[in-house]
Amino acid sequence: MTSPGIPRPILVALGKEFRRRGMQNHAEHLASYYRGNQGHRPPYGWDDGHVLTWLKRLRIPPYEFALPALAPASDCPHCGPQSVFGGRRTLCTFPGGAEFICGRCEMTWLELERGPLDVRRLVGV
Ligand SMILES: [Zn+2]
Repeated sequence: MTSPGIPRPILVALGKEFRRRGMQNHAEHLASYYRGNQGHRPPYGWDDGHVLTWLKRLRIPPYEFALPALAPASDCPHCGPQSVFGGRRTLCTFPGGAEFICGRCEMTWLELERGPLDVRRLVGV
């Protein structure tokens, strides 16, 4: 058995989060990816990089702060309103949120349906 690039407890946490959000296909692909690390063929497109992307999107520790989480319809944190010239694009939507990319500087961020409590506390909303 070859060791996966991402530790198993982190993969287990991601699998649970997929199921909690009703993302059954993703949970099954993740399981296939894990078996793929043990000599089976992983599902197309599911490599360490893709799994890492989902760990960041769903804020699974230790990746919970890898992407900034902003209020809905935010401008790019780097470009501000200037980002309208490049346009913000939706990279991916998923149950509970979406990931966006700035067309100007290519920074990515999350917008979550229930905003991050830690940030709300900081700004006193
Ligand atoms: Zn930007």
